[in-house]
Amino acid sequence: MQYRENPENKDLISVLAYGCMRFPRKGNRIDQEKTNELVAYAIEHGINYFDTAYIYPGSEEALGTALTACGKRNEIKIATKLPHYLCKVYDDFDKHLNIQLKRLKTDYIDYYLIHMINNLEAWERAAKLGIEGWISEKIDEGKIKNIGFSFHGGALDFTNILNAYSWDFCMIQYNYLDVNNQAGRSGVEAANKNGLPVFVMEPLRGGQLANRLPEEAKRAFRQAHPDRPMAEWSLRWLLNQPEITTALSGMSGMSDLKENLAAVENATPGHLTMDELAAYRAAVAAINKVIKVPCTGCGYCMPCPKGVNIPTCFSCYNDSYSSGFETAIRQYYQNTGIASAVQSDASFCSKCKKCEQSCPQKIEISNELEKVKRRMKTAFVKPIAGFIRKIIGIV
Ligand code: SF4
Ligand code: SF4
Repeated sequence: MQYRENPENKDLISVLAYGCMRFPRKGNRIDQEKTNELVAYAIEHGINYFDTAYIYPGSEEALGTALTACGKRNEIKIATKLPHYLCKVYDDFDKHLNIQLKRLKTDYIDYYLIHMINNLEAWERAAKLGIEGWISEKIDEGKIKNIGFSFHGGALDFTNILNAYSWDFCMIQYNYLDVNNQAGRSGVEAANKNGLPVFVMEPLRGGQLANRLPEEAKRAFRQAHPDRPMAEWSLRWLLNQPEITTALSGMSGMSDLKENLAAVENATPGHLTMDELAAYRAAVAAINKVIKVPCTGCGYCMPCPKGVNIPTCFSCYNDSYSSGFETAIRQYYQNTGIASAVQSDASFCSKCKKCEQSCPQKIEISNELEKVKRRMKTAFVKPIAGFIRKIIGIV
């Protein structure tokens, strides 16, 4: 494993970090046994930064349990995030941090982020509640070691937030499709100028750059390296840039973990060749031709009061353009519960727009769902499924 130095405090951080939002699941719960194995294996192979959040269901608790099981808490850095948007009064900051410490079974958080500070107004609201004094107090008490923010807003907002407080680090969405989106390359440079380490989330755009690339994009990459996995292209692109301290990947299985560990082995700053850089340009052009909705599957828009499974609707809709209509439509109806009592396809959207306030990608979800509904509507699927549900007794 390679490590990069945090310019703020000289911590050595593994270039691959573990994003704990996608721990493996068993039914509705995190599969703790598998999570323990993954966490222990990751630490044995050099990963020393684990990122979770208050709002990732079960994730903090599962990470705390896995770290207790392997007894390596003090060998790694825990990052988690304060849901400032749930804090209405000063005491709520403490309330959430205390819950997090308990879930994580630790006395301190190494890297604490104010979650989704996407514009200056969000920061000013928290500042009015007294968050700056609270942060200083928790740092003095040793409960927080480094303070940062995670960000999904626009480039200008990013610079404003960067300059609004004396941050220790920042975390942004960044990948070869998002060079000019959100904080983007200009944000990376601004943070670097301020001496801040940049931790990157969504290097694979929620798996899109690994599993759901159009054929033309895959061809562009394969021409340069026939056997290089698609996820590796994403990680290498990031780590080619010296300003990036670490790339977080949400690994939900041992094969993902092993593949990513191998991918970053020799991904040093400036290692990409001219031919490889040309392959990225060709792949981006091919992807932009077919991606209809830039949904990363983060799930921040959920739950929908009408039960619509928004990320699944978008992922199947995108797949219907990039990987074949028939497979996508089968997945769409299968994954939105056509044969079960509770259905969650796009046709249930009432256009209330509640979800749109939480989408970091600023997707006009209700309008896009209308398009999903039109494209994925087939004359016979619903009546046949209704008939089957009647026969098997679920209506
Ligand atoms: S706009 Fe549609 S998808 Fe979004 S919360 Fe409302 S009903 Fe759900
Ligand atoms: S629609 Fe937005 S918030 Fe919802 S899963 Fe997609 S990117 Fe995330």
